Amino acid sequence: MRPSRATIDLQALRHNYRHARALGGGRALAVVKADAYGHGAVPCAKALAPEADGFGVASIEEALELRESGIDAPILLLEGFFDPAELPLIERHGLWTVVASPWQVEALEAHRATRPWQVWVKLDSGMHRLGLSPEEYGDAWHRLRALPWIDTLVAMSHFSRADELAHASTPDQLAVFDAALAQLPHAAPASIANSAGLMAWPMARRDWVRPGLMLYGSHMLDAPCAAADALRAVMTLESKVIAVRELAAGEPIGYAGTFTTTRPTRVGVVAAGYADGYPQYATSGTPVVIDGRPGELIGRVSMDMLTIDLTDHPQAGLGSTVELWGPRLAVADVAARSGNSPYRLLTGLKRVPRVYRD
Ligand SMILES: *Cc1c(COP(=O)(O)O)cnc(C)c1O
Repeated sequence: MRPSRATIDLQALRHNYRHARALGGGRALAVVKADAYGHGAVPCAKALAPEADGFGVASIEEALELRESGIDAPILLLEGFFDPAELPLIERHGLWTVVASPWQVEALEAHRATRPWQVWVKLDSGMHRLGLSPEEYGDAWHRLRALPWIDTLVAMSHFSRADELAHASTPDQLAVFDAALAQLPHAAPASIANSAGLMAWPMARRDWVRPGLMLYGSHMLDAPCAAADALRAVMTLESKVIAVRELAAGEPIGYAGTFTTTRPTRVGVVAAGYADGYPQYATSGTPVVIDGRPGELIGRVSMDMLTIDLTDHPQAGLGSTVELWGPRLAVADVAARSGNSPYRLLTGLKRVPRVYRD
């Protein structure tokens, strides 16, 4: 059997969720969209279900996968619904939905509900992607408030640059959010912080936080932050050395000859490539961990294989275990070597079997 696998540490996942919830001080929506960032939505949601206040997903399809696996906790559709035809399904499965556009307010006004709904009303506080403008917000809120079957409205927004610890955009967005909250007729539960907002911006911790990336043990904060030090990597992507060769100095390795040996070099071939989700354009020098010791990628990553430098690892050879990211090697550091993000690498995992540890 091909020796590549992704081990998913469910204890680390629960640890990170508890950490997020304790930091937030209120309730925490565990964001498990995109198949739990590549970790497997159903097993991750099941592992968190006994303690999670709710789950966040990107679509009804993702929500139904959780419901069908027996998850009966609240599930919020983070992008709302895409078509009014989805409303009966939202109702039947008791999902919570975001409303981010005036047409969605109209669709809800036309809906005849038979059970209470929870709706999160999204403000565009400066990211300029999804959300009602500050001018539209009050009107939408009042119209939704007037629907007797909506029993809870939550005010929400989303940060665009909370991982940049010295950037003014996060306090600016908070000011826009607070101004909108101040105009509402009653105090409403509020939610704005994603992982970075939650860890790095204490004033962003409101009634609900919405941690995603941090649940999986990663972050992109651009400065040291104690809250991030407590995270534990959930996924370990590893494979094994399947061939070893000795090359003289001056020999090219792999496609396009992007790396040429500068000394007699012992090369290890590892059974993992870009078809598994490892970044194709990770540069020579990208860190790997060889039998527990730090090492380096050399040469272009292929579809099914990559090559590493074993010259300074005389104890390693055929069958050695190579960690490509995990507890000893932050996925964010690997991502940075190819202009990628940990979000992209984790959600891009393919073909590799996932093995769950509890
Ligand atoms: C994805 C998402 C999150 C989680 O973001 P992270 O940066 O992964 O913590 C939170 N809120 C919304 C609306 C999202 O779409």
